[in-house]
Amino acid sequence: MTTAEAFWKLEAKPKTIIALAGNPNSGKTTLFNAITGARQHVGNYPGITVERKEGTINLKNTHVKLIDLPGTYSLSAYSQEELVARNFLIDEKPDIVVDIVDATMLERHLYLAIQFFELGIPVVLALNMMDDAKKQGLRINRKKLSELLNCPVVETVARNGQGKKELIDVAIKQAQLKNKIWAPLDISYGTDIDLALDEMEEIIQAEDFMTVRYPARWIALKYLENDQEIITLGGQFTDISKRLTEIVEQTKEHCLKTLNIPPEAIIADYRYGLINSILKQNIIIQEKPQQERIQMTTRLDRFLVNRYFGPVLMIAILYGMFQITFSVGAIPMGWLENLFAWISQTATLLIPAGYLQSLVVSGIIDGVGGVLGFVPLIAIMFLMISFLEDSGYMARVAYMLDRILRIFGLHGYSAMPFIISGGIAGGCAVPGVMATRTLRSPKEKLATLLTAPFMPCGAKLPVFMLLVAAFFSEHQPLMMFSITLFAWIMALLVAKFVRSTVIRGKSTPFIMELPPYRLPTLRGIFIHTWERTWQYIKKAGTVILAVSILLWAAMTFPLLPQQQVSQFEMERNVALNTLSDSLERQETLTAINNREGQASLQHSLAGQVGTALEPVSKWAGFDWRTNIALVGGFAAKEVIVSTFGTAYSLGDIDPEAADTLSSRIASDSSWNKFTALAMIVFVLLYAPCVVTVVAMAKESSWRWAFFATIFNTMLGFGMAVSIYQIGTRLFA
Ligand code: GDP
Ligand code: MG
Repeated sequence: MTTAEAFWKLEAKPKTIIALAGNPNSGKTTLFNAITGARQHVGNYPGITVERKEGTINLKNTHVKLIDLPGTYSLSAYSQEELVARNFLIDEKPDIVVDIVDATMLERHLYLAIQFFELGIPVVLALNMMDDAKKQGLRINRKKLSELLNCPVVETVARNGQGKKELIDVAIKQAQLKNKIWAPLDISYGTDIDLALDEMEEIIQAEDFMTVRYPARWIALKYLENDQEIITLGGQFTDISKRLTEIVEQTKEHCLKTLNIPPEAIIADYRYGLINSILKQNIIIQEKPQQERIQMTTRLDRFLVNRYFGPVLMIAILYGMFQITFSVGAIPMGWLENLFAWISQTATLLIPAGYLQSLVVSGIIDGVGGVLGFVPLIAIMFLMISFLEDSGYMARVAYMLDRILRIFGLHGYSAMPFIISGGIAGGCAVPGVMATRTLRSPKEKLATLLTAPFMPCGAKLPVFMLLVAAFFSEHQPLMMFSITLFAWIMALLVAKFVRSTVIRGKSTPFIMELPPYRLPTLRGIFIHTWERTWQYIKKAGTVILAVSILLWAAMTFPLLPQQQVSQFEMERNVALNTLSDSLERQETLTAINNREGQASLQHSLAGQVGTALEPVSKWAGFDWRTNIALVGGFAAKEVIVSTFGTAYSLGDIDPEAADTLSSRIASDSSWNKFTALAMIVFVLLYAPCVVTVVAMAKESSWRWAFFATIFNTMLGFGMAVSIYQIGTRLFA
């Protein structure tokens, strides 16, 4: 046979065009290479950078052209890849689509298959990665799966080419059988959607609206899914398009009213529902025992993520964490308190009275000491959080919370930013806000990053601990737990609020993979704990030190006018000369010193700012000293405690009882339980610290960062006022 003859023969053979489709990483390219070998051609789809790969194989009675489509999770119009894949199928009408799915992740991968069925194109399913599936002890009842899906199913291992011959044979046979006739699968999406689909389909059929290119029901479906490409294409036939859009709007409104989710989310839910109902029929058989770790994971999950028991256990674990933190943490905290008291005393003795002494004792030691005193508690809490994270339990927490988060317009992936921000206690909103990048839908991302700063971050914790120790000392763990719970409730309510007002929009269907449980290594836990604790200490030594010194200066200058100073000096002289009883004299002197301290603090710059704010802040029970701390807290929340330390050591109360900051506050007459509660709530909710605001602006825009600053402060103040006013009126 001459070359020309061979060519003629080749051309005379029937041609079969096979498109390879599948999720990214399903093994498409590997299979494509295994089948075509070197006979391939790589180019681009016209005008865009999506790669187009073609190959050929020459079989006895047919000539096969194979196209490797871009990897996609669905056939919507969200990405270029999805559009390319879809338009290729519609424009070039391949004889058959070979959908490659990862057999170890059937549920997720079948989502794309369902969409091929909806389009009606003939499909053969390749269960790839069968080697991995077998290793995991999985067997797939492919006969039953094939019956239920009404398409051939072939097992393959793309890596070693196993099953590729059978796959091609089955694909060619199926292509000939179907003979380019598309038979779209009608899926029921529930009565509301189905009714709309029927009505729209009728209009589309009657008017032959784009039916040359697409199946009628599919066009209707795409209108309901708000598919931009189809809607734009349909735009040219305005009259029909308008009628369709009207039905879509009605349906959407109805869905939002009754189920509170838009049609496209309902459609996605029903697709997953269909997959689940198929897989439930014993399609996946756990044959051999799984690898030990996976087996243990499955067994543990049966009980740790149990629908009813899981959440109860989760709350118990988190509550237990607070209990342990406080009971164990109290011991080293006592040591540190004594240490700082000793340093403070020594410094007072060594440095002569004056500004330097005041700066070192009041500014630096009390300020930074107030923050460092909490290191043991924070380290213990981080230790437990690291354990939960490294063991894989934290991912389960996110998984369980997904059910709740959805109700509030958030997403399962919102749980991580919340937890990182301190949702379990002691995080930081800066990495929390950055972690919102994992959220695919911009609206859910925005809602998450706006509410993550409500969480009790590591810097707010000392404030709560201080106030709780001062006013609720019998119920410390319970109070801390309630504060955390309250933070979540507020975050969710605000998320719901913004998701139903300023950032309304659809939610994304959730798929989350749960990592296997691991016994964390001691080394890993210690490294993680140390990293976070060190970050906290470093901040105390840098930013907080600087802000402490600045605030100390603002709280010291301008000085009390000489006239007032001499007035106090005179009072002291009078006391020294007239009182003979030494105890009485000492008490009187202390009282005079305190009044002088108070007067100079009030006269200082910070005191003036705090006083200027008092007419407003007093509604929430905050006096000018609290105001100083709260304004400073905008720079960094840690500063609140350090400023308290400074403010209460500058203007002394009762030196006998004033051995710790919390007892100083507890013995101050201007404080009561409700002031403390109002302050806790305000600190929890008010403007995020500067660094967080910058991070928010980077992840969204300055507009939203600014919104959060104003909105949160107003919300916090409103709540604080209500608590203080109602509390003091009803119970005091
Ligand atoms: P694509 O994104 O769908 O093109 O996927 P690739 O062909 O690039 O494959 C993704 C990864 O899965 C690669 O590391 C492959 O080596 C691997 N892989 C592909 N097929 C199989 C298989 O059947 N078994 C196993 N164990 N790995 C596979
Ligand atoms: Mg590839």
